[in-house]
Amino acid sequence: METHRLIDTHAHLDDPIFDRDLETVVDHARHENVSVVTLGCDYVSSTLAVGIAERHEGVYAAVGLHPSKVTGDQIADDKLIDFGAYRHLASRPKAVAIGETGLDYHDLPTGRRGGAEIELAERIKRNQVRTFGLFLQLSRELRLPLLLHCRDAHDEMLKLLADWDQATKGFDSRGVVHCFSGTWKQARKYFSLGFMISVTGIITHGGYQSELLKKAPLSNLLAESDCPFQTPTPWSQRRSEPAFVRQVAANIASLRRLPVAEVEKQLSTNAHRIFRRIGP
Ligand SMILES: [Zn+2]
Ligand SMILES: [Zn+2]
Repeated sequence: METHRLIDTHAHLDDPIFDRDLETVVDHARHENVSVVTLGCDYVSSTLAVGIAERHEGVYAAVGLHPSKVTGDQIADDKLIDFGAYRHLASRPKAVAIGETGLDYHDLPTGRRGGAEIELAERIKRNQVRTFGLFLQLSRELRLPLLLHCRDAHDEMLKLLADWDQATKGFDSRGVVHCFSGTWKQARKYFSLGFMISVTGIITHGGYQSELLKKAPLSNLLAESDCPFQTPTPWSQRRSEPAFVRQVAANIASLRRLPVAEVEKQLSTNAHRIFRRIGP
C-alpha cells in the first residue's frame, strides 16, 4: 500500500543513544517513508544536527539553543550566544528551521532556599527571554520557521510572539509549538498567530491531550517523535525513533474517527507548509 510521506517534525538524532546504530534508525525511517527534522539543543548539538542532515538523505536540521540550557550567569546581551556562528550554521542548505528555542520555567530554582534563589530564577527567565528574542530575529532574517519549546510559560510566550507578530507584518515563516502542553485556549491563540502544534507518542498512552486533538483543526496539527524520548505504545519501553510517527498519526486518526490515510495526507501537507525548504 502506498503511504503518504510523513515528516517527523522534532527529533534528536545527535543524542549519543543513536551513536551505535544511527544508520539503522535512519533506514528504518526511510523504510516507513518518514523524513526527519533533527534539532540542536546548543551550538555543538546544532552543528552535529546539520552534519547528520548533510550525510543522510531525507534528514534535515534545525539549529537552536534549548531554553533549559540558558543559565543565570550569561550576560543578557548579544554576547549571550555567538550569534554569527548560529547565523552561519543556519544558512547551510540542509538547515530548514530555527530550534529548539523558547521558554522553559519548569525547573527553575523554587526560592525555597531564600532570596538569592528567587533572584537567580528571575535572572534565568530574563536570559531565556533575551535568547529567545535573538532566535526570533534569526528566524525573521533567514525566513526560517521556528520550532518552539515551551513549558510552564505559554502566556509569556504568546505575548512575546504577539509583539513579534506586530513587528513582522507580512512575515510568514511562523512555526510549531512542539510537545504541546498548554490549554485549548492557548492553542487557539497559537493558531491565530499562524503557529501549529505538534504532539508526540505521549498521546498513545491514553487521555493525554485527547480533547485538544479532537477539537483542533486538522490543518494545524503535526506529529513528532521527540526521539529518543516520548515513545508511543506499544514500544514504550524502548527509545523513541522517527519511524514511530506513523503510530502517532494513527492515534490522531483513531481519536478523530478518520481514515489513517486522510490524517497522514493532511499531516504531510501541514509539514510541507511549515518546512518550505523540504521538497516534495
Ligand atoms: Zn523540547
Ligand atoms: Zn526536543
